[in-house]
Amino acid sequence: MSKLQANISGIIKSSVIDGPGNRMVIFFQECNLNCMYCHNSHTIGLCNLCGTCVDTCPTNSLQIDSENQQIIHDVNTCNRCDKCLEICPENSSPFYKQMSVENIISEIHEVKDFISGITVSGGEVMLHAPFLKLLFQKIRSNSELKHLSILIDSNGNINQEKWDSLLPYIDGVMLDIKAYSVDIHKQITGYSNEKILNSVAYLNLKNKLCELRFVLVPNYNNDEIEIMNIANLMKSVSPSVRKTLIKMRNHGIRKEFAYLKEPNEDEMIHAKSILTQSDLDILVI
Ligand code: SF4
Ligand code: SF4
Repeated sequence: MSKLQANISGIIKSSVIDGPGNRMVIFFQECNLNCMYCHNSHTIGLCNLCGTCVDTCPTNSLQIDSENQQIIHDVNTCNRCDKCLEICPENSSPFYKQMSVENIISEIHEVKDFISGITVSGGEVMLHAPFLKLLFQKIRSNSELKHLSILIDSNGNINQEKWDSLLPYIDGVMLDIKAYSVDIHKQITGYSNEKILNSVAYLNLKNKLCELRFVLVPNYNNDEIEIMNIANLMKSVSPSVRKTLIKMRNHGIRKEFAYLKEPNEDEMIHAKSILTQSDLDILVI
C-alpha cells in the first residue's frame, strides 16, 4: 500500500458537467490562485486547527482531534448551515479528508460500471502531481478500470515538468484562462498568468488540451483589447479544443467580493461577438 495521501474535499460519484459522458469527479483541497469570484473558496486553503469553526458551529458538530491533527465532523447533527465555511480565516473547511490512492481506487470500483471516466478537479489538482501519477497508473493498469477516460480540470498555474509526469496517462486537460493581461490577471487571481499561458501552449502542442474556458468579469476582463487578446489565444490552439465563454456568477462568492457585477446579456453578446470575429466556434455557458 502506498503511503501517499492527499486532502480530498469531496467526491461526486456521477456528474455530466465535468467533461463528456457520465463521470466521477474527485475534488482536491488547496489552490495556488485566489480568484475573486471563486464559488468554493473553502477549498483554497488548508486547515491549521485554529478551532474558530468549532466554537461557531450552532449544533456542536465539530471537535478538534489533537492526536490525529484533524477536525471531527458529526454528520448526524450537522444541519449544513455552512457557518463553519464562512467563518474560516484560512479559506479552508473542516470537512476535507486525507485519502490514499487505494481509498480512491476503491471508490472508483463502486461505480466503474456506470461511469465513462473520472475527472480530477480542485482547488488546484496539479499541486498533487505525484499522487495523481500513482492514481492514474493504478487505473491504467487495472483491467476493470481500463475503459475509464481520465481528465484533469486545472487552472494551469504549474510548471511544465508536472505536466510531463502525467501526460502519458491522461486523455485531456480542461483549463481556465482568467485574463490575458498580467495586470488584470493579478487583480482577479492575485497571481501572474505566465505559467498558465505556457501551459496552454504546451498542452496544445502535446494534443492534450481539450477545453479552454474564459470567465467574463465586468470591469475587469471585459474591455475590447482584453477580449481580442483572449480571442487570439483561443485561435492559437487546435480547432478541436472546445472554447467556452462563461458568465461569472456572484452567487456563493465571498462577502468581500459581493460587489462584483455579473455580466448582463448585452455584455455576454458583445464578448461573444468579439471572440467569434476570429472565426472561433464558442460555446456560451
Ligand atoms: S477549518 Fe478553518 S476555522 Fe476550522 S479549525 Fe480549520 S482553519 Fe480553523
Ligand atoms: S455546516 Fe454543520 S458543521 Fe458547519 S457550522 Fe453548520 S452545523 Fe456546524
